[in-house]
Order: sequence, then structure tokens, then C-alpha cells
Amino acid sequence: MTCFMCRGDVEDKLTTFMVEVDGCIIIVKGVPSHVCTQCGEISYDTNVVMRLEKIVEKMKKSATEIIVSSYEAA
Ligand SMILES: [Zn+2]
Repeated sequence: MTCFMCRGDVEDKLTTFMVEVDGCIIIVKGVPSHVCTQCGEISYDTNVVMRLEKIVEKMKKSATEIIVSSYEAA
């Protein structure tokens, strides 16, 4: 697999996904992702993206400003 940005080598890594929704910061740790060794571009498999969307949907109902979740536990 190669990077779609720079065609560099891509390695499988667990990364931290962070998104801001409605002024609430959601952090998901341990997300399986593909990281480019050259430019650092991060991409996810479709099933991972879908799962992240579900986690974000679930988490944003919470009233907390910063939410930290683990990918495996969510
Ligand atoms: Zn790259």
C-alpha cells in the first residue's frame, strides 16, 4: 500500500483520532490506521471510519467538553 498524497510507504499503526463537534472535543485513542512514513498522512479503512462515526455520534450526546475514548472499548 502506498500513500495517496506522495506515494510514500504506508505503515499500519495505532493512532489517536481527534475531532471537534459542536464545541466538544472528542479524542479516540488506539485507532487502527495507515500512516505514511514520508509525509505523515493518516488514512483509515472504511470500517474504521464507520466505527469512528458511530463513536462520535454516541459521544457527542454527552455534555462534557472533552471526551477521551478508546477505540477498542467504545
Ligand atoms: Zn505520504
